[in-house]
Amino acid sequence: MKKERFIAGIYNTCDYWCQRCAFTQRCRNFAMGEELEREASGEDISQDATNAAFWNRLAEQVREKTIFGPAEAVAEEADFDLDLTPDPAWEAQHEAQRQAVRNHPLVRLAHDYRQHAGTWLQTANDDLQAVAQGLLAAASSSFAEGDVEEEAREIGEMLEVIAWYHTLIPTKLGRAIQGLLEQADSHDGLSELLAESRRQDAHGTGKVVLIAIERSIAAWVRLREILPKREDELLDILALLSRLQRGIRLALPGAQNFQRPGFDVIPPDEADDQA
Ligand code: SF4
Repeated sequence: MKKERFIAGIYNTCDYWCQRCAFTQRCRNFAMGEELEREASGEDISQDATNAAFWNRLAEQVREKTIFGPAEAVAEEADFDLDLTPDPAWEAQHEAQRQAVRNHPLVRLAHDYRQHAGTWLQTANDDLQAVAQGLLAAASSSFAEGDVEEEAREIGEMLEVIAWYHTLIPTKLGRAIQGLLEQADSHDGLSELLAESRRQDAHGTGKVVLIAIERSIAAWVRLREILPKREDELLDILALLSRLQRGIRLALPGAQNFQRPGFDVIPPDEADDQA
């Protein structure tokens, strides 16, 4: 079987940290983002056939035509018109769903965490500066213990992890909870198929949130060792994360063991190659 360049849907269950992602070359979302950036910088990629972006764009067009055909033909065949006038009943239903997601206890807890972590990051500069001074002093001492340079890098890494995930956690969790609620609303045959796809999406997204929480917990635990004077705040933050983690495991029991394409499981075409 021919190996596909892009792994289908890999970007649905990632943490959007493209800078650190090992799958940038296999992610359609990343490739499209690069093209948009080049366009935004004024580069005209649409006419330059020596450019890979030109061919990616062409491939997208071919794909759309192959799958859907011209939009008018599809509309004719399916006997519906492309009236895009907003439907008040549909909009009201979706607003009610958005509201239900915003009010879900786990989503509220996740926003609570985002706020606490954000405040902590805004107020930690003086204490972290003091740690930095301590490391500089240790580096110039002949009695320095351990790898001071590595310790400085580790602190930077922990702060980066916390900063990245504290905003991602509520956003991704909102999506997972939305999938969970929509799944519960589905009762007939077709909607059960949709419900299954939403269940999968909710669990895959839930797994990303669990990973983000685990990494954040590890970072906060290490910060607690470095900044004992802020122990109380850090314990509160850790307690929040721990409640969130337990709640997600209960609400989305399939999340923990969900196999994300690319990250946790080899795509089927490559698995066949390796058999
Ligand atoms: S899969 Fe990787 S490259 Fe694609 S959006 Fe996610 S983090 Fe970025």
